[in-house]
Amino acid sequence: MRKLASIQTVNAAEPIPNADAIEKIRVLGWWVVVKRGEFKPGDRVVYCEIDSLLPETADFEFLRPNCFKPAQSDSGGLVLQAAGFRIKTIKLRGQVSQGICFPLSVLPADVPTEEDADVTDALGVRKWEPPQTGTGGRIKGSFPGFLPKTDETRVQVLEKVLARYQGVEFFLTEKLDGTSFTAFVREGEFGVCSRNMLLDTTDELSTLVRVAKQLKLEERLRALGATRGFEVAIQGELIGPGVQQNKYALKELALRVFNVFNVSAYRFLDHADTVAAVAEMGLEAVPQLGALTLRHGVDELVAMSEGMSALNAKAQREGIVLRPLREVEDDFLGRLSFKAINPKFLLKYDE
Ligand code: ATP
Ligand code: MN
Repeated sequence: MRKLASIQTVNAAEPIPNADAIEKIRVLGWWVVVKRGEFKPGDRVVYCEIDSLLPETADFEFLRPNCFKPAQSDSGGLVLQAAGFRIKTIKLRGQVSQGICFPLSVLPADVPTEEDADVTDALGVRKWEPPQTGTGGRIKGSFPGFLPKTDETRVQVLEKVLARYQGVEFFLTEKLDGTSFTAFVREGEFGVCSRNMLLDTTDELSTLVRVAKQLKLEERLRALGATRGFEVAIQGELIGPGVQQNKYALKELALRVFNVFNVSAYRFLDHADTVAAVAEMGLEAVPQLGALTLRHGVDELVAMSEGMSALNAKAQREGIVLRPLREVEDDFLGRLSFKAINPKFLLKYDE
């Protein structure tokens, strides 16, 4: 689970060229611009990651001019997201700054302050969710327990994990910014899911269901399952018109697969097998950016995430996803797989 607000120790402080009033400090694998001298290495701080929505309390009022976001309601007046102060990626004097730090005194009394403690709830911090486009459609139930949900952890919180896998062979794919899509066959039944829900496959208006039909996914999953001898699920990103501003300027909806899953054995196929299975089904994978032997730290991987999209040379790519060539279960992370988000993408799209 992502910790939006946690107790962390300042690892380093460095000057910013041509700036005397501010400097950058490092917390986990993030760089944060702060007032010079406000925090020093070794200090314990409350660190709030980008995408935090801080409550409208006295301690955070100073953020109002730059960060205030009014409440979001649906057409019926139901509040979907309360008002608050949104923390996002910014650039100050040429330096990217991600997140915000506070002294421990912002915490209510009795809140644990050991390193890494999660203080998200104690501070009333919530996750900023951008208004969603491209809706899923009619819901049949919650996301099935026999499949993993799609998710990727940010590399900035994985410094220790990276250290453990130096020398291991990874594969890079482009992270596409669309909407998560899952299709599966289980005990003979075909189903389609959005990021968090099982959808009603009789809903003709659902974009996801329509795509599943157009691509004949049921047949393709059954055919692959028959040759492989197990039941199959695929997970991918749906991109194109009507989805997340169609950042790649596509003319039609497209599904780009990033996972092939053996439902019967509850395991992901390894990278090469995934690519082969996607081709066998006549589908398309997310852009494949090549293999890499991990000899990199957080900053190097974030630098590597910068670049244009393989789908549109005029669009900043959202980032990259890294996975080992052979699947690994990590004690801390679970499936070894993580993302590095392109800071230029975050700045450009104000995310
Ligand atoms: P956070 O966890 O950082 O709060 P989030 O949960 O909204 O954010 P995303 O930034 O959307 O996560 O990243 C995870 C999603 O990225 C996955 O659910 C998947 O749909 C999508 N994705 C796009 N391209 C890829 C890819 N190449 N490999 C894996 N996942 C991908
Ligand atoms: Mn997530």
